[in-house]
Amino acid sequence: MLKIEMIEVGPRDGLQNESALFTTAQKLELIGRALDAGVRRIEANSFVNPKLVPQMADAEAVAAGLPRRDGVIFIGLVLNKRGALRAIEAGMDELGAVCAASDGFATRNQGMSSDASLAMCCEVVRLAREHSRRAQITISTAFGCPFDGEVNPLRVVEMARTAAAAGPVEIAVADTIGVASPGEVAALVAKVGAAIKPLPVRVHFHNTRNIGLANVWAAVQAGAKIVDASLGGIGGCPFAPRATGNVPTEDVAYMLQRSGYHTGLDLERLIGSARWLAGAMGRDVPGMLSRAGAFPKKLPEMN
Ligand code: ZN
Repeated sequence: MLKIEMIEVGPRDGLQNESALFTTAQKLELIGRALDAGVRRIEANSFVNPKLVPQMADAEAVAAGLPRRDGVIFIGLVLNKRGALRAIEAGMDELGAVCAASDGFATRNQGMSSDASLAMCCEVVRLAREHSRRAQITISTAFGCPFDGEVNPLRVVEMARTAAAAGPVEIAVADTIGVASPGEVAALVAKVGAAIKPLPVRVHFHNTRNIGLANVWAAVQAGAKIVDASLGGIGGCPFAPRATGNVPTEDVAYMLQRSGYHTGLDLERLIGSARWLAGAMGRDVPGMLSRAGAFPKKLPEMN
């Protein structure tokens, strides 16, 4: 059976744009629920300036409370070297370094040029390896920038090639503002995959224009092996105007499993977690499987 690894990004990308602050205990409950549903790699927090992203101000407290289990890898997102040192100090297993394919986004999100953000990512990978940690690199705005507009795919491929040489576990292309289409995704994933072989490609989509799942499907068909998703489909980005939620973990898992892929995730537990999240946030989540229920296993609980 074909395997797709899903990374849960709800505790970081999902929550960071929520105006209502989650307590550390609520974040740890979300993380625990994801692990109970079979998640084995999870973006738990980000080590960024708490003044800019208040929801992530408790990154160290989350790290200290992580429910450690065999085979589970906790990722801390970092946007600069200072954040990387904090994540290492806090005991994160894997550092998620982010660069941007466009200068407009790199400047606003990270206070540096696109080139500088790529160099920073390579430096973060070296730091992580020095401290025996894993590291991944994500190229954000790989399909379009809210400030600069269209992004040249060749630029993304070149960045991926440079990033791969630093020695991360994978390279991701991220549709930070949800503008990608399946055709573009298939083309870029294939090109990046060829450029970074044998490193795998990870993809990160937002469902801003309601084609997030189609993009996941196109990416998987083009060879992507790892997919970021967030329980309930919550999420956004404080520096990407009008970006909405990530693709919902439970909806993506349903699509892939019904299509014959192995994700290692338990759909009923994912649905339960998405419903818990809706309760914690006091509103419906964007994901649809938690409303409709899985098929053919069990009928959804009526409420
Ligand atoms: Zn995102």
